[in-house]
Amino acid sequence: MITKSVDVAGPKRIAELGQRVLAGGGITREEAFGLFQLESSAEIFDLLSWANRIREHFKGNKIHLCSIVNAKAGACSENCSFCAQSSFYQTGSPRYGFVDPEPVQAAAEEADQYGVTAVGLVAAWKGLSEGPMLDEVCDRIRELKASGKTRPDVSLGIIKNQRVADRLKEAGVECYGHNLESSRRFFPKTCTTHTYDDRLETIGYLKKAGIKICSGGIIGMGETREDRCDLAFALKEIGANVVPINILNPIKGTPFENNPPLPVLEILKTIACFRFILPRQEIMIAGGRTVNLRDAQSMIFLAGASALMVGNYLTTLNQPVEKDLQMLKDLGLDPSWDKHGFSDQETGGCGCGKTGCATEAVAV
Ligand code: SF4
Repeated sequence: MITKSVDVAGPKRIAELGQRVLAGGGITREEAFGLFQLESSAEIFDLLSWANRIREHFKGNKIHLCSIVNAKAGACSENCSFCAQSSFYQTGSPRYGFVDPEPVQAAAEEADQYGVTAVGLVAAWKGLSEGPMLDEVCDRIRELKASGKTRPDVSLGIIKNQRVADRLKEAGVECYGHNLESSRRFFPKTCTTHTYDDRLETIGYLKKAGIKICSGGIIGMGETREDRCDLAFALKEIGANVVPINILNPIKGTPFENNPPLPVLEILKTIACFRFILPRQEIMIAGGRTVNLRDAQSMIFLAGASALMVGNYLTTLNQPVEKDLQMLKDLGLDPSWDKHGFSDQETGGCGCGKTGCATEAVAV
């Protein structure tokens, strides 16, 4: 589908849309696509300054920090074209089974030391069903919660029944990471071993269990601006509480290893467009930040980001946490996120796609 964009050239039109969002209104998909199509640096910087105002209006100067632990590494059965951990590609990425309690406790202590709001346990596998592995996962979650040092989050792949989501909630999971990755249209170019609908179904079970949703995607995979725009609206539909934007860091051995990097202004513009579309949600800049943005990293906040993944990523390195904390301090931003339970956000639909579902289904 080719979207007709609304002409947003010129500061007056960008200001009109910015004022509307600040006043609590929304922008249409066509208007948003017009923003994604901005080309001149003058217009893009104008857009960033409005995105910054929107962030400050809805989020103040608080920045939500998250970190992750690779809780089960490599040898994944799925063929996600960007991922070093897929068993389909020779990447030299480490492989090990489900994590013991000690590294999780060490991550909790580090998070506490740096004031990081959440630690997410991330597993490289297709998904989770009932059985001994779910019991072990729930043990790690309970231990993390009992430490009282951080919010226990997880990213455990596809869930195929409500009971699994309910068990995770009972164990103490507050937020579940499950990216839509890209638009429905582009998704099959990133993965063919599971579907976009598998992902939406999982999000439906999680929402019914009362678990908050961390869902975003990756840019720079070869998708179009229209795909990015559709992803943002899909995330609005499902009411993603935290929206991680990853920027592809091409991994040698994967199908995307030779993808050209996105220009820095294109990345910043994308973040700003997401802020216009998702004014109240946490927009988090995650993987690929340092390698793609380099000296422009601090501009993500001007572009509307309100959350940051700190510490190392799953298979690549990040800059030291101390450096990120200094960057926030220099910008007058406060990493002591107030843990308000996401109560200021839009909730969106369920995403399960089933008729008769208790929560209204969405078609994204
Ligand atoms: S992104 Fe997740 S599901 Fe896909 S290959 Fe990597 S670890 Fe497996």
